[in-house]
Amino acid sequence: MEIDLSPYIQRIKNGDVVAFPTETVYGLGANAWNPSAIKKVFETKGRPPDNPLIVHLANKDRVLDFADHIPEKAQKLMNAFWPGPLTIVLKKKPEVLDLITAGLDTVALRIPDHDLARSFITKTGPLVAPSANRSGRPSPTKAEHVKTDFGIDFPVIDGGATQVGLESTVVDLSEGQVVILRPGKIGVAELESVIGKGVLISDSGASTPKSPGQKYSHYKPKANVFYGEIESIDPNNLYLLQSNAYPDQKNIINYNGDLGKLSRELYDRFRQADLHGFESVCIEELEEFKAEQPSYFAALMNRIEKARSA
Ligand code: AMP
Ligand code: MG
Repeated sequence: MEIDLSPYIQRIKNGDVVAFPTETVYGLGANAWNPSAIKKVFETKGRPPDNPLIVHLANKDRVLDFADHIPEKAQKLMNAFWPGPLTIVLKKKPEVLDLITAGLDTVALRIPDHDLARSFITKTGPLVAPSANRSGRPSPTKAEHVKTDFGIDFPVIDGGATQVGLESTVVDLSEGQVVILRPGKIGVAELESVIGKGVLISDSGASTPKSPGQKYSHYKPKANVFYGEIESIDPNNLYLLQSNAYPDQKNIINYNGDLGKLSRELYDRFRQADLHGFESVCIEELEEFKAEQPSYFAALMNRIEKARSA
């Protein structure tokens, strides 16, 4: 069924927020040039103001409205991976609102690989769009997740379940080096296949993190998250397994090493655990799939570790 976007476009033009699907997770969109609309994004999410926002574009022609210039490697990555789940951090133009960048001299940009998202942004103009969840909760991968967090009447463009399921890779090209600030589906190997060796991974434990969002706890269900060897099954827990040692049932789901599928479903499983009152989500070790699927492995471990931290 065709979705009529016009009421949602009108809302954005009125300075309101609208949730919309992308290939990664649902975003909470607001006009990137309207300060009061952007403030509503922070208020709606309860997002700390020092955590900057990603600007979502419909096409590459808009990059220089936000970025001061496009380094050669950034251009190569845009050509190779846009539209797609890659956010590129560049030196910003002076006119980009401080509300977006949390006062940094850089801005994060992305073109989503989702037809509905790009049609929407083509009509609204560039949108800031953090994940459409209450701050700290798992990102939404279905329209119903957004409504769980923000209420049944919240304006959401329903595009079904998202394809990637984890947030975009964030890569900083604002200085000489190329540094992954947040791992995602596009990892070191994919980036290096386009720009050559030398892609670095940020040390998120550093005292002044480049990606301020990294310092906050994230992606957390109410249930505990356990990661490791699974030795027995407790009916009070939800199990995400790799080994097929226990057959699928209500609280046991086997992924058999398909880390793409686990990425796609992880946040939905976290939210299901809360809905059904499971005490813990127990994720069986993924180490043996690291060599085959390094990018998904790094992205998943990053989210699982944050979900486990207090
Ligand atoms: P979210 O949209 O909620 O998935 O979070 C956006 C992520 O992008 C956060 O981790 C931010 O810290 C990061 N980010 C956004 N803008 C910048 C920037 N200018 N420099 C570094 N990281 C950024
Ligand atoms: Mg988020």
